[in-house]
Amino acid sequence: MLNDTLPKYFDPRKYANNELAFEGNMPLNQFEELCAILASDEGNAFIHLDFRVDEDRRYIATGSLTANVQVVCQRCMGAVDHDLEVDLALGFVYDEDHAKNLPNNYDPVVMTDGEVILADMVEQEIILALPIVAYHEESGCNPTAQKYASSTDDAADDEKPNPFSILAQLKAK
Ligand SMILES: [Zn+2]
Repeated sequence: MLNDTLPKYFDPRKYANNELAFEGNMPLNQFEELCAILASDEGNAFIHLDFRVDEDRRYIATGSLTANVQVVCQRCMGAVDHDLEVDLALGFVYDEDHAKNLPNNYDPVVMTDGEVILADMVEQEIILALPIVAYHEESGCNPTAQKYASSTDDAADDEKPNPFSILAQLKAK
C-alpha cells in the first residue's frame, strides 16, 4: 500500500511489518543544516521508500531520493545546479551498536523511542550525497566578476572609518 502523504514521524517496524510504502515532496527550506551549506533554499526533495522485513528479520526500506539543489561553486562562490539522485537502502536500528552489525549495503538509521523523524533522516541523506567540492563548468564560471563585487564591498567596509568612532576618539582626548 502506497501512502502519498508523508508522515512527520514513523515507526519503521510498523511500516516494515505491513510492507507499507510512502512517497512525496519535502521543501528544502525546512532543512536548516542543509540550507546553511547550499547556495539557495529553494526547491524540493522527493522521496520514495518501500518498507519490508528482510530474511534476517531486519526492518529495512529501499527507495530513492531526488532533489535539485544549488551548491556553492568553490571557484567563484556562485550557485551551481546539482541534480541529486540517491538510491536508498536503509536499515533501522535501535542504537549505534546495532548499526555496526548491519551489512554494508544498508545505511543505518537509528530510531528514537521506536520512531524516526522523517525530515531529519532525509536531511542527513541529502547532506551525505552532496558533492564534497563543486565547480561550474569553465564556461559558466565567472570568478573575476564575483571577486570584483566582493572586493568593492570590502573596501567600503574597511577603508571608510566610521565617523562616530572618530568623534568618540576626539571626545576622549
Ligand atoms: Zn563558478
